[in-house]
Amino acid sequence: MIKKRQSSSKHGSLKSTTNRPDLEKLRPMSSSSSWLHQIVDLYPPGSSNRDWTCQYCKIIQPPRTRHCHDCDKCVLQFDHHCVWLGTCIGKKNHCRFWWYIFEESILSTWTVALYIESLHLDIEKVWWKDFIGVILLAVLIFILMFLLLLLMFHTYIALTNQTTYEVARRKRIFYLRGIPDRVHPFSKGICRNIYDFCFTRENGFVLEAVPPIEELEARAAPYTCRDLFCCRCC
Ligand SMILES: [Zn+2]
Ligand SMILES: [Zn+2]
Repeated sequence: MIKKRQSSSKHGSLKSTTNRPDLEKLRPMSSSSSWLHQIVDLYPPGSSNRDWTCQYCKIIQPPRTRHCHDCDKCVLQFDHHCVWLGTCIGKKNHCRFWWYIFEESILSTWTVALYIESLHLDIEKVWWKDFIGVILLAVLIFILMFLLLLLMFHTYIALTNQTTYEVARRKRIFYLRGIPDRVHPFSKGICRNIYDFCFTRENGFVLEAVPPIEELEARAAPYTCRDLFCCRCC
């Protein structure tokens, strides 16, 4: 993996180090555009200028970056735009978002348990006399199921170093197109993925290169018993 650093905000949005007129002058073969050369190296050979330039910000995007139309900025390791929190979930706040879902799940479980206990105390009452209470309990259980599924999903993508956007739009992202579903191109193993997910750097970030096609083809090979012990599936 090639490691590069660039300035970023709290959720990992990209801040251009060059103003827009300067960026528009950048060309792949320009010797002054070191940022551009660094980014080009992260993409597979044959990628074009259109593939890695944001048409809204005119910023050269590293892999895994996407422009958010709600925030009107490019977000590194874009996961999704959360309408409930009113912000993008990206490189720098994905871990905090996971803890947020975890805490919400615990809170909902506790509320459901207290609710069932309170209904149980009135067991002698006919159930339809507490109809509204039963309806509220059903809604609470539905929310709890949703939160648990969301928590499981974000745990899965954290363990495999993916994002919601990459999972949902895998076939539309040019450098992921054609890669078998079971291959997670940016995964470095469960332990390293958890470390990178939990411990994001406060100053700058590490850019990830798209692995070469030979490496991805090797990872797509059928699993053997030995691979299970080596944790290759991760
Ligand atoms: Zn943008
Ligand atoms: Zn956003």
